[in-house]
Amino acid sequence: MQGEVDWVLNDEKTLVSIPTDTPWETVFTLATLYGASHVLGILPAISQIEQRLHRAVQKLSIPLLAIPPQQIQAIPALLEQIPIGGIILPFANLAEVQSLCRGTRLYYQAYLGPRDMPTTPIGEVYLEVHTLPGIVALFQCETLAHRKKNEFHQSLGVEPLMPIRAQGTCVCGKEIVHYE
Ligand SMILES: [Zn+2]
Repeated sequence: MQGEVDWVLNDEKTLVSIPTDTPWETVFTLATLYGASHVLGILPAISQIEQRLHRAVQKLSIPLLAIPPQQIQAIPALLEQIPIGGIILPFANLAEVQSLCRGTRLYYQAYLGPRDMPTTPIGEVYLEVHTLPGIVALFQCETLAHRKKNEFHQSLGVEPLMPIRAQGTCVCGKEIVHYE
């Protein structure tokens, strides 16, 4: 259909294999929570993270916008043209991107590796810890993101590769784990 985007991704026609295991659920949980019509991914050129993000936004039928960390200076120009609701990015780039986006209402989904320790972020930031790029081991619900402590929920079926300690139950009903 001319002029329409075909969101049906056909695995047989793709040049690179698309991971179909563990979907990146937090991408669509947050985009849905904030009613985002567009999200931007800042994605290093590492194994298959872009394909995982593509799968996640495809489920919401929203376009995938992705740039590498080397191009984050282009974000203000993108924000002027596209109604971006949230930015998915490595935690290492968070402070710089937040300073570029000052004055714009956005949520940030910042991911860390299993050996990285987060510092306390400012603003509408959801932290998550990935065991492999796009494979979420620990994530934050709205309550934990706003509480700004080193507290997470654990993804079902993903083995955390980092030391964690259970620490009670969240108002959302899930168990809280502390990442040490
Ligand atoms: Zn919670």
